[in-house]
Amino acid sequence: MMMSPDDFRRHGHSVVEWVARYFETVRARPVLPRAAPGELAASLPTSAPEEPEPMEAILADFDRLIVPASTLWNHPSFHAYFAISASPPGVLAETLCAALNMNGMLWKSSPALTELEQVTMRWLADWLGLPDGWSGMTHDTASTAGVHVLAAARQRADAASRQRGNGAARYTVYCSELAHSFVDKAAIVMGFGQEAVRRIAVDDRFRMQLAALAQTIAADRAAGLTPLCIVATVGTTAVASVDPVPEIARIAARERVWLYVDAAYGGAAAVSPRYRHHLAGSELADSFVVNPHK
Ligand SMILES: *Cc1c(COP(=O)(O)O)cnc(C)c1O
Repeated sequence: MMMSPDDFRRHGHSVVEWVARYFETVRARPVLPRAAPGELAASLPTSAPEEPEPMEAILADFDRLIVPASTLWNHPSFHAYFAISASPPGVLAETLCAALNMNGMLWKSSPALTELEQVTMRWLADWLGLPDGWSGMTHDTASTAGVHVLAAARQRADAASRQRGNGAARYTVYCSELAHSFVDKAAIVMGFGQEAVRRIAVDDRFRMQLAALAQTIAADRAAGLTPLCIVATVGTTAVASVDPVPEIARIAARERVWLYVDAAYGGAAAVSPRYRHHLAGSELADSFVVNPHK
C-alpha cells in the first residue's frame, strides 16, 4: 500500500529532524563504529520481512542498528581516504532527486536531467580553466570513467573494436607506479589483462619519469604490442604528486596514443587560481576526469 501524503509528510518531518540533529551533534559521535565484524548481520532477520512494519519501527531500527554500525564519512573528523563531506544543501538536493527518480538515457527521458548535466559540466570546466570546446558527463565513480576511457581509446585506435573487441591486438596502458588502482581494474575489465599495465617508475618528486615512459613504449612496439593510452595523474592518491603533463602530452602526440589526465583527487584544487597551474597541459588531453567531491 502506498504511503498516504499525510503519513509521508509526518515521517518526512521526522527524517529531516533526524538529519538536522545529526549535523548538530555529529562532532560528538565516534567516526569509527565500535561494532564487531558480523554483529550487524547477525542482528538482522535471515529472510526479508513478509509483513509491513510501522515507519516509526523502521526509523527506530535505523537509529538502534544501522547508525552504530556506520563509519561516519560525513563527519568533520573523518580524514581517511579522502574528504567527501556532503553539505546540508546537498542532502536536500538528494531528497529532491529521489522524489523525481529520473533516468537520463535520452533527452526525452528527462530533458531537465540532460540539460542540467550539460550546463553544470560547462560551469565545472570553466571553473577549472579547461578548454571551451570540451563537453563532459557525470559518471558514478572515476573508476567507471576509466573503463569508458579505455573503450574510447580502443575505438579510436580500431573503429571495428566496438563490434569485434580486442581482436588480435595486444593493448598496453601506461601510468606511474603511483597511479590509482582503477588502471589495473579497467585493464582487467577491458580484457587487456593486468599485465598490460606498465607502471612507470617515478622520480624523487614522485612524478612519472619521461625517459622510462618513452623507452617502455618503444620496447612494447618492438615486441608487437599496441600502446593505447597514457594515464597522467594530477594529484596521486598517496602523495598528491603531479606528473609532468605537458611533456607526457608531447610523447602521447608523437606516439599517437590516447592521453588521459586523471585529476580525480587533485583537480578540484584548480578552482583556486593559486593552484590552477597544476592543470598545465591538461588542455592537450584526449579526456580528463575530476572528482569534485574529493
Ligand atoms: C579516488 C581516485 C580515483 C578513483 O575515484 P573513484 O571515484 O573512487 O572511483 C582515480 N584516480 C585518483 C587519482 C583517485 O584519487
